[in-house]
Amino acid sequence: MTMARKLPLLTQETEAFWRGGARGELRIFRCQACKTWIHPPTPICLRCDSLDVGPESVCGRGHVASFTVNHQAWAPELDTPFVIAIVELVEQPGLRFLTNVVGCAVDEVAIDMPVRVVFEQHEDIWLPLFERDPPKGNA
Ligand code: ZN
Repeated sequence: MTMARKLPLLTQETEAFWRGGARGELRIFRCQACKTWIHPPTPICLRCDSLDVGPESVCGRGHVASFTVNHQAWAPELDTPFVIAIVELVEQPGLRFLTNVVGCAVDEVAIDMPVRVVFEQHEDIWLPLFERDPPKGNA
């Protein structure tokens, strides 16, 4: 399968996020002093200024906070339409990032829909995408 996704650049801070999927884990930076989850990752806690921050695994569940259906094929390999969503993780209000909702029809996606992470490997990157939780048919 050829995908035209633009792969993220790995840095010391972002590597855990983009490669945790190799172990089936979604890894998010967390301050060890005040336990605040931090995303995107930064080398210092934005709440308490602690430098004791590092990646921890989250459970991989969340909900759709916002989404849009993209009908534009930005590259010929991309199937359209597809869903671009902001998913908020259950660990902390506001802990959210841009991703795609996959594995269901675009008109099934709704605000607040529960989702769980699935990983899509591209080279040495494991993109965290989300699917309905539970998937259709398993409810
Ligand atoms: Zn902190």
